[in-house]
Amino acid sequence: MLHAVITRLSHLFLRTLRDDPADAEVPSHKLLVRAGYIRRVAPGIYSWLPLGLRVLREVERVVREEMDAIGAQEISLPSLLPREPYEATGRWTEYGDGLFRLKDRKNADYLLGPTHEELFALTVKGEYSSYKDLPVILYQVQTKYRDEERPRAGILRGREFVMKDSYSFDVTDEGLAESYQKHRAAYQRIFDRLGLKYVIVAATSGAMGGSASEEFLAESEIGEDTFVRCIETGYAANVEAVTTPAPPAQSFEDTPAAKVFDTPGTPTIASLVEWANTEDEVTERLGRPVTAADTLKNVMVKVRRPGNEWELLAIGIPGDRDVDAKRLEASLAPSEVEVIDDEDFKKYPFLVKGYIGPEALIANKVRYLVDPRVVAGTRWITGANENGKHVVDLVAGRDFEADGTIEAADVRDGDVAPDGQGTLVSARGIEIGHIFQLGRKYTDAFELDVLDVNGKPARVTMGSYGVGVSRLVAVIAEQMHDDKGLRWPVEASPADVHVVIANKDEQARVGAESIAGKLDESGLRVILDDRKASPGVKFKDAELLGIPKVVVVGRGWANGVVEIRDRVSGESREVAIDDVVDELT
Ligand code: ATP
Ligand code: MG
Ligand code: MG
Ligand code: MG
Repeated sequence: MLHAVITRLSHLFLRTLRDDPADAEVPSHKLLVRAGYIRRVAPGIYSWLPLGLRVLREVERVVREEMDAIGAQEISLPSLLPREPYEATGRWTEYGDGLFRLKDRKNADYLLGPTHEELFALTVKGEYSSYKDLPVILYQVQTKYRDEERPRAGILRGREFVMKDSYSFDVTDEGLAESYQKHRAAYQRIFDRLGLKYVIVAATSGAMGGSASEEFLAESEIGEDTFVRCIETGYAANVEAVTTPAPPAQSFEDTPAAKVFDTPGTPTIASLVEWANTEDEVTERLGRPVTAADTLKNVMVKVRRPGNEWELLAIGIPGDRDVDAKRLEASLAPSEVEVIDDEDFKKYPFLVKGYIGPEALIANKVRYLVDPRVVAGTRWITGANENGKHVVDLVAGRDFEADGTIEAADVRDGDVAPDGQGTLVSARGIEIGHIFQLGRKYTDAFELDVLDVNGKPARVTMGSYGVGVSRLVAVIAEQMHDDKGLRWPVEASPADVHVVIANKDEQARVGAESIAGKLDESGLRVILDDRKASPGVKFKDAELLGIPKVVVVGRGWANGVVEIRDRVSGESREVAIDDVVDELT
């Protein structure tokens, strides 16, 4: 069996750090730097050190294997690109500040490629001319450049990063749909092999243009994308790509707000307002200081409670007062509610026109302050804290579209799914892959035609598909680390086994060398900690580096055993020296 060189920590270009880097906020960034996988050069620009580079190469390997398996062919286009093709598609301008632009010595414009649709379309145009040549899928694993506004979390959002981008070329729409499905399946295999928790969500096609588009989002609290999914139907979408109906209109008696009015002693903002006369008292009732965020635009309505007089109801509304007042009037039973017009406002001099602010609360002037969604039956804004004190959560209201739907970016937990078949739950994710049916936007720009069966020119249709290869290294670290360090899945790990010499005895050292040699011969990738450091330091580093299996040659050596630790499950067990290789292969 062909074997590699054992990686000796006494020799490896590696310095682990005890402290988190000052600029790191998320765990993957802290750990990748502390474990000596990456080093910062400038904002969003990082160097890969030996172990980091190995992980990157492993992720690339998995990606290449799955791309090759769907018949995609690897090529490599330059990163340094002339302006003209991007001028032809309009993206030289559209990309704005996101593009790294530069000039050569003759003052000609160049850019560093942020994505390569233009160049791939031109490449195919240069080589192919018949429908018989298609379909074809080409890909590259390439360094991309984007002058991101907020580079973040180390390699998670870099300004220089590695992407696998592929492009499909078909004659028919059906062909494009097939190439798209092939990629979708390949991406599932890639992310499954890497052990990631992810969702596939409907996405907008944005600057790329085209029709169908889906994103692969790794589930993570630190993600910058928010997605919603419907438990009942399995529907999932990036919030950028979903618009849901606003809560249905109800008559006022059916609403939770009406029930509050009818239940004596229920904590409401009304009770808060009636009790609080000073800012301190408001603070005490709220359980926190009043802030500017507590100021909501309002409309005033009069409500006739069953068997009661008209009462003044101030309804806090974010957004356009007139539009919301009309909708509110429509959503409440008309006979019970009257929206007070601007003239009427003058009768209530204690109100700051258009706003109910902390001043009004403190001045004990507003009787009821209700979020419109309470009226519409969706959300409570009052409650009690653990001491039984009344607390109020003034929910910032959301923006509604003029047609009464909820704005895409504002969709959230509890909203009705677009098909009405259930409710949505929201979560955050990191985009790890994105697939597009581009259609003919780019092939039109370059007049990319092939001759069809009848010898007539047919415009080629195109798909584009990206995987964030370097980002995946951070995402794996983010999803799989624990408080002690990194934990790599076998497919991405820089090694298979980490052998720690934790016994000063010369026999034990020689024995550890021999175990490492046998593991290497059996085809495993071995790291051997042969440094002159204390066992404590070595164990800590083994946890930090995150190789899935750790073999400790320690005190048990004299009794003929070594310890095998599983970095992922945390389990450890003793194994006879002669059984180590069998146990690990
Ligand atoms: P994001 O929404 O995170 O900015 P994007 O939608 O701009 O990503 P695409 O143009 O779809 O990205 O590129 C394909 C893939 O490249 C993305 O799914 C992502 O995994 C990766 N990627 C994009 N921008 C970066 C970046 N700045 N650093 C690392 N990876 C990135
Ligand atoms: Mg982006
Ligand atoms: Mg995106
Ligand atoms: Mg994208």
